[in-house]
Amino acid sequence: MPKFKRKREARVTLNYTQRGFRLKEGRLHLAGGIVVRLVRSRQLPKRPSSVRVYQDATGAWYASFVVARVSEALPETGRVIGVDWGVKDIATTTSDAHDLPHPQHGRTTAQKLARYQRMMSRRRPKRGQAASKGYREARRQTAKLHRKVAAQRQDTGRKWAKRVVTDHDEIAVEDFRPKFLAKTTMARKAADATIGATKRTLLEMARKRGRIVHLINPAHTTMACAQCGARAKHAPPLSERTYTCTACGAVSPRDKNSARVMLVRAGLQPG
Ligand SMILES: [Zn+2]
Repeated sequence: MPKFKRKREARVTLNYTQRGFRLKEGRLHLAGGIVVRLVRSRQLPKRPSSVRVYQDATGAWYASFVVARVSEALPETGRVIGVDWGVKDIATTTSDAHDLPHPQHGRTTAQKLARYQRMMSRRRPKRGQAASKGYREARRQTAKLHRKVAAQRQDTGRKWAKRVVTDHDEIAVEDFRPKFLAKTTMARKAADATIGATKRTLLEMARKRGRIVHLINPAHTTMACAQCGARAKHAPPLSERTYTCTACGAVSPRDKNSARVMLVRAGLQPG
């Protein structure tokens, strides 16, 4: 049966607006005379309107500030790009310089993670018993690893999105919808999550920088030819990595063909 989180187990979140907080000499002054020193990830562009103070699963504390967004349009480039999502390469695009291979961050930490998870199950407290010190430590280490992988993924995704948005005026993106409910492997589920997050980052950044985004319905993109528009009768098996058109004879890597189809469907001219 699902278990509800008891209040004493839930982590703390504190919200402060306008008068509830003040920033002074690198310190955060909160209502009630609480003063905390901040380790900043970056400078704030403007005076924040509110702050949320919270603790994550590793026990670390964060202060998250809300600042009115300053939108900066980028200079025109005269270039367009088509983006196709996948498992092996997270993004295949019509520009070879902008493909995004699958980040392997998860794999290197997977062994460590498995170790801590085994530790957790060994030390799991019995029903009605308080968690032991060893159990809580294993749980903290697990949470820390999860946080590290998530941070690395986010960083890679942001850097890629920034490059794509800076170098192109219009972006034709496959409107990927994760299929979490389908019977799939863990690897596929993880890939779905990574693709979803990368897509969100790309759309957010494009909107912020005044770029035009076309969301393309992915139906039949693997069956269509980007050169002549002909559609194959059957979807080629996933193991087939090249697309060969039966109508015009064009041959191209499967994912590159799909990325090009995105452009064509958006009504854009490649190149
Ligand atoms: Zn063709």
